[in-house]
Amino acid sequence: MSKRHPAGRHFLQIPGPSPIPDRILRATNRQVIDHRGPEFATLGLTVLAGMQRIFQTRHPVIIYPSSGTGAWEAALVNTCSPGDRVLMVETGHFAILWKKIAERLGLLPEFIPGDWRHAIDPAQIAQHLAADSAHTIRAVACVHNETATGITSDIQAIRAAIDSVGHPALLMVDTISGLGAMPYQHDAWGVDVSIAGSQKGLMMPSGLSFHALSPKALEASKSARLPRGYWAWDEILAANVRGFWPSTPSTNLFFGLVEAIQMLEEEGLEQVFARHVRHAAATRAAVARWHLEVLCQDPACHSPVVTAVLMPEAHDADRLRQIALEHFDLSLGMGLSKMAGRVFRIGHLGDINDLTLIGALAGVEMALGLAGVPHERGGVQVAMDYLRETA
Ligand SMILES: *Cc1c(COP(=O)(O)O)cnc(C)c1O
Repeated sequence: MSKRHPAGRHFLQIPGPSPIPDRILRATNRQVIDHRGPEFATLGLTVLAGMQRIFQTRHPVIIYPSSGTGAWEAALVNTCSPGDRVLMVETGHFAILWKKIAERLGLLPEFIPGDWRHAIDPAQIAQHLAADSAHTIRAVACVHNETATGITSDIQAIRAAIDSVGHPALLMVDTISGLGAMPYQHDAWGVDVSIAGSQKGLMMPSGLSFHALSPKALEASKSARLPRGYWAWDEILAANVRGFWPSTPSTNLFFGLVEAIQMLEEEGLEQVFARHVRHAAATRAAVARWHLEVLCQDPACHSPVVTAVLMPEAHDADRLRQIALEHFDLSLGMGLSKMAGRVFRIGHLGDINDLTLIGALAGVEMALGLAGVPHERGGVQVAMDYLRETA
C-alpha cells in the first residue's frame, strides 16, 4: 500500500483482473435476493442467455462460482477418464498450469513444446493426432490467448487440423483472457468446451468462470469416469433450465454480469474487438520506437489484449515495474515463470480508451527513463499519431 494518498486514479494495466467500470461496480452493490425465489429465476435465465450470446453459442453454458482455474479442472473432470491422454501445447505459463492440473487429476498430458514466442502450430497438432491411429487421445486442450506471452492462437485452424486427420478428440479452449475482448465463436469454430473467466475481457470482479459446451462434450460427459461432484455439469444444467443453481450462486456478481453484457452489447462486440486491436497496435508502435522487442515473433498472432515486452540484457523488468508503480501509480504485468524479470506486460483490455492507453504508455516511457533502460523517447508520440490517424 502506498504511504500517502495518491491523487487521481490508479492505472491498473495488468492483463487481468482488468479495471471494473463504475457501472458494473454499482450494479453489484445491491441487497442480495433469495436464490430460490422468482426474482432470481429471471436473473439466472438472463445471465445464461447473455453468456450464450457472448460465446456465440446456441448450446448450454455453465457458470461456476470460481476463478478460471476451477473451470480448467471442471472441463477435464466432466469429459475425461483416469489415464486419458490429453494433447496440450506449451504456449506459455498458463498452458503449463493447465497441464499440471491434468497431471494431478491422473490424466496423461502430452505437451508439444513451445518457445513462448510463437502461436500454436496447427500442423503439429495434426501430426500428433495422425500418429494416434487407435484414437486414444481424448482431448486437445489449447490456450486461445496466452496471457503470459501476448500471443493468440488460431482456434479455427486448430479445429481444421483435428478434422483433417479425422480424429475424434474433443477440442477444449481456454479463452479466459480472450472472451469479450477478441472474436470468439464457440459454435462456428467447432469448440467442444470453451473456458472463460469474469475478470478479464468481461471487466468484472474475479469469481465467476464459464463453460460453453457442445453436444459432443455433453455426450462425452456421460461416459467420462473421472470423479466429479461440485463441478458436475448434469445437476447444474438440470437446475439451470428454470434459472436456478444446485448450490448458492454468486448473486451479486450476476447483477454485475448483466451490466457487463449490456455494456459490451451497447458498444457492439465488433466495435469492442476493433478497439482492442487498435490499442494493441498503438502499444506495439510505442514499443518499436523505444527500440524494445515485443515477445511475440508471429506478426499475425499479436494479442489484442496484452503486449509482453522484452527487457534489454542485464535490465530487470521487475525493477522497471516497481519504478512505474512508485512514481506513477501504474501497475504493469510481471513476467511469469521462465520470463520472470525478463519481460513486463502492458495490459490493454477491458474498460480502456485512447487516453487511458496514452497515460499508461507515458508511465512506461517515464519509468524506462528513471530506470536507466536504454531506449529512444517518443513512443508515446508514435502511439498518439497512430490513434489520431485511426480515430
Ligand atoms: C488468468 C488466466 C487463467 C487463470 O485464471 P484464474 O482466474 O486466475 O484462475 C488461465 N488462463 C489464462 C489464459 C488466463 O489469462
